[in-house]
Formats: sequence, structure tokens, C-alpha cells
Amino acid sequence: RQKEQEKLREANEFAKKLFTFVLRNTAAGKPAMDYLRSRGFTDKLIEEFGIGYAPSRWDTLEKALARNGFDLPEMEQGGLLLKKQESEGYVDRFRDRVMFPINGNDGRAIAFAGRLMSDGQPKYLNSPETPLFAKSRTLYRLYEARGAIRKTRQAVLFEGYVDVIKAWSAGVTNGVATMGTALTADHAAVLRRFADEVIVCYDGDDAGQAAAAKSLPLLEQAGFQVRVGLLPPGMDPDEYIGSYGPEAFVREVIEGAVSAIKFKLIYLRKSHILLEDDGKIRYLRDAVKLVARQDSPTEREILLKELSQEFNISLDTLKQETADVRRQEK
Ligand code: ATP
Ligand code: MN
Ligand code: MN
Ligand code: MN
Repeated sequence: RQKEQEKLREANEFAKKLFTFVLRNTAAGKPAMDYLRSRGFTDKLIEEFGIGYAPSRWDTLEKALARNGFDLPEMEQGGLLLKKQESEGYVDRFRDRVMFPINGNDGRAIAFAGRLMSDGQPKYLNSPETPLFAKSRTLYRLYEARGAIRKTRQAVLFEGYVDVIKAWSAGVTNGVATMGTALTADHAAVLRRFADEVIVCYDGDDAGQAAAAKSLPLLEQAGFQVRVGLLPPGMDPDEYIGSYGPEAFVREVIEGAVSAIKFKLIYLRKSHILLEDDGKIRYLRDAVKLVARQDSPTEREILLKELSQEFNISLDTLKQETADVRRQEK
């Protein structure tokens, strides 16, 4: 078992080196290099993130692994190869994809995410679950970011690999991402060892905002202080940095991240139609419920004041309503 795992680590690291070599030093890697350039990836980013390219042939990695004495059935178990369907033997799992290695806690690759360069499905192909790689526990870049996270006791949680990379180039070196899956309690527990605060910085589209809303209770239950970085509708961090620049990203989105309760109120608003009285009443009732769960009386009062001004309802009424909810929920 131990031995197999070690072999698998060696194989993933071997594959990482092969993919980076193909990207940087071969003609086959040229279109991938052009693709990365067109997306603003500098040599420095390509190097720092160990980005590579898996060529379109069926047997590049398979042949290289075989030549270097790796056991091919084990490599299939490890997610690098696929069994041929019609005949004996194995083929490469990743073909014609830009490769993002995911490094484990000794810095060696344990898995990959491979991105298509054109439209097609799936856009990102990840390694499957293997003895080394559990999606529900693994955070992209945690190994590299842990120093920066420990120092500030703060982590930034992104949705996409490219978002982590572009944020890093903007100076946000404490960024991590889940592996194309929803955040789990295990992710939160892993992160809690290094951080006290998390800034959730998911995409500005509906899916991203819904995922952010879902992640908040998990993070709060793990004991984090939580804030949320807000992006314009339909923009992700990569696109924001591309449009507005790295300084604006750091200042507006990261430093300007709002408290979890603020985000919940903003998010709640989107699901209510506020033109009619009963829409307003329903929104206010739900908003008061959220505010009532805040432990700090000062915080509750500040939030209620804002609601009171905005909806022209007396602060006393809102306080009364909050007190009622707090009594009921006890
Ligand atoms: P890019 O900028 O390269 O287009 P993205 O990160 O903006 O990628 P999104 O569509 O916003 O991509 O998806 C966010 C994340 O969800 C991705 O980084 C990836 O982890 C995961 N993901 C997206 N599409 C797929 C897919 N088809 N299969 C598996 N994971 C996916
Ligand atoms: Mn998205
Ligand atoms: Mn995105
Ligand atoms: Mn993107």
C-alpha cells in the first residue's frame, strides 16, 4: 500500500514534468502556449504554477510511464491512464489539454485539472478519486499558499483555478480553490488549521453567488470569520482583474469584502420583488430573521438602522420584531 502510494506520487510528479516540458520545449506545445498567452499567463505564472500541456496523442504519457518502469494497471488506478475499451492496454486520460497540477502536502503532484483550449465538454477534466486524491478534502494551492495563510490567518476561497492564479499575480498569495466541487465540512476543517478568516470570492454569476451563499454556514460552523468579495454580475475574479486591473481587485473586491451578514442580506434581496408592499414585508421579515441571529447587539442595531432608513420603517418596530424572533428561536 505504502509502496503503491509512493509509486503513484512519483508517477504524478513524472507526468507533471513531462507536461511542463511539452508545453515549454516542443512544437506540440505551441498552441497551448499561445492559448495561455492569450489569457494573460506570463512565463513567471506558468513556472510558478507548474502549468503544462498534455498532447493530443493517445500514448504520450503511457509510453513514457512504461519506458520508465511504472506499472500500468497501477497508473490506471492512479488516474493517469485509462483502460482501452476494445483491446488490451492503456491510453492517456488527459489529451490535448492545458494541465494544472494539484500538489499534495509534500509539494509533489497528486492530481491534475486539464482544460480544453476550445469550447467542449467537459471544460475541465480532473483526476478521479485515487488513493492520493480526495476531492472533498483537497484544496487547490493549499500547499503553496499555507505560509501566506498562516502569516495573515486569512485565506481567500475561489471557484476556479485560473482565479487563484490571477489573484496570486495580483498579490493575493493566500488564495485556494475547491476542485470543481462544492465546499465541504472537510475542506473547512482542513483550512481551519491555518486560517481564522475566510474571504469567499466566487464568480459573480447566479451559480457562483448561490455557491457562496451555501458555503457560508459551513464556514461559520467551522469557526471562521467570514467575508464575501463582491464581483459585478457575470464576472469572475480572472475577468475582473483583466478588466479593472490588479490594484482595483485587491482594493475593491478583497479589502472591500463585505461581512457574511451583509452578503446574506444582499443575496436575500435578489429573491424578493420589492416593488409591492407584501414583497417588502416578506423581505423585511426574512432580513430581520438573519439580523436576529447576529450575536452582537451593536451589529444588530447598525443593520436594523440601515433597513429602517431604506424602507422607512421605525427602528423601534424593527427592534421589536428582532426581539420577537430572538425569543422564538431560543
Ligand atoms: P475558465 O476561466 O478557464 O473558463 P473558470 O474557472 O472560470 O474557468 P467556471 O465555469 O467558472 O470556470 O467553473 C469554475 C470551476 O468549476 C472551474 O475552475 C473548475 O474547477 C470547475 N468546473 C467548471 N466546469 C467544469 C466541468 N465541466 N467539469 C469539472 N469541473 C468543472
Ligand atoms: Mn463559474
Ligand atoms: Mn469562472
Ligand atoms: Mn474564468
